[in-house]
Amino acid sequence: MLTPALPLGEFDIIRRFFSRSQFPSSGVVKGIGDDAAILHPESGYDLIAAADVLNEGIHFPKSTSPHAIGYKALAVNLSDLAAMGAEPLWFTMTLSLPEANEDWLSEFSRGLFEIADQFGISLVGGDTVKGPLSIGIHVLGRVPEGMALRRDGAKPGDKIYVSGNLGGAALALKRGSSGHSVDKDLQKKLDYPEPRIDLGRRLLGVANSCIDISDGLLADLCHILEVSSKGAEILAKSIPLSEFCQEIAQGSVPDCALNGGDDYELCFTVPKEKSDELNKIISDSGIQITCIGEISGREKLIIKDEELAGAGLRISGFNHFEPR
Ligand code: ADP
Ligand code: MG
Repeated sequence: MLTPALPLGEFDIIRRFFSRSQFPSSGVVKGIGDDAAILHPESGYDLIAAADVLNEGIHFPKSTSPHAIGYKALAVNLSDLAAMGAEPLWFTMTLSLPEANEDWLSEFSRGLFEIADQFGISLVGGDTVKGPLSIGIHVLGRVPEGMALRRDGAKPGDKIYVSGNLGGAALALKRGSSGHSVDKDLQKKLDYPEPRIDLGRRLLGVANSCIDISDGLLADLCHILEVSSKGAEILAKSIPLSEFCQEIAQGSVPDCALNGGDDYELCFTVPKEKSDELNKIISDSGIQITCIGEISGREKLIIKDEELAGAGLRISGFNHFEPR
């Protein structure tokens, strides 16, 4: 006889969708099921911690699939570990749900664990509450002691590099929110960012500074410049554009590539004497890496492109360094 399904309680949700018997990373002495997780870091490493919250309607549109929400919530956190050159280990998750919908939870946890397993990171605890849809994730990773990539190490003469290409995520968001249909591959740029964990780890001891591009290339590069007390000259035409942005570029660099967020590529600086090591990283990893300019001693960001300057180039979110 069929029994009607009981509404899911908080502990059913945790047990059914988030507790697992196996952990993809080592060092979990106790995961879900006590008041707190017990984690055992190995000696010789620094622990790297980061947290990011995704709220519905602010960090992702209401139309986003639960699978993509689960994937992206962890991906953006992993991107912060990538920017530090860290190996992912453990994460906790604070989940605020308007209702306990089984189908939604099943798809959400599928997306979450898909990327967790891909990068070998274990869910070890969290909190589950009723409220507006919001996912808060706190990640922990490790880097050999003293080796973490930081924003504040850029030196004059360093070349500035960007991984992958830029602008696709912002273009997808713009098209989707203005009611246009969005190409499937373009939508993927927004919903399924690829954290550059492998690249970040390879850059240890090679890059002088690094940041992940979450707020837009110019704004995030300015974070490096500000905390390193340096300036930069970049060549706008060298910025690698997503193939979708190339279509709308028409000879100039579109705003979505300069100021669009959500691409989660790495922007980093490498001293000239390490260029052979960087070339080896490029050939070993197969990741597209583009030089876009050079760090200078003058505290100014100069964007070399007359057309762009004439078109009223702007740096959104940050105005400390003025384009010329
Ligand atoms: P407490 O009351 O001690 O805060 P809870 O009853 O909230 O603990 O949670 C019980 C266990 O389930 C804890 O180990 C907690 O870390 C874990 N947990 C709760 N929510 C989540 C979640 N969304 N994801 C992973 N683990 C969770
Ligand atoms: Mg407790």
